[in-house]
Amino acid sequence: MEVGKLGEAIPERRPGSGRGAALSFPNKELDVRTVGGRLKTTAGARLRAPSKQTDPVYRTSAHRRWAEAVVQHAGGRCEGCGVPGKTLYADHIVELKDGGNPTDPLNGQALCGSCRGKKTAGSRANRHKGGGSALSPT
Ligand SMILES: [Zn+2]
Repeated sequence: MEVGKLGEAIPERRPGSGRGAALSFPNKELDVRTVGGRLKTTAGARLRAPSKQTDPVYRTSAHRRWAEAVVQHAGGRCEGCGVPGKTLYADHIVELKDGGNPTDPLNGQALCGSCRGKKTAGSRANRHKGGGSALSPT
């Protein structure tokens, strides 16, 4: 009986209760990831300048060379989803916050915007789950 499926696929917009609200609750991290991923792909991740605090290592020429090598090595294909022809970003397999080597080619993979977004959110979630010792109150 459901005929209007296409029309119903559009989620209703909830004005106000957007990103800000979700971000203030750590438990809502999953929501942030899904919604954020959508927004980034449509809004063009390329234009998003890293206005947050950036690790100084990202600005070194060694890191730039590493990034170029990683993307070139991928041959124009996202190493996450395997889709060719997307804009690729060099990504640290083991993130620097997790002790990854910033300029080791073996610690690099070329990811499209959406794969990178998913991967980054996943690493952050893992850190929250497993990083209990860092916050131990002793
Ligand atoms: Zn991808």
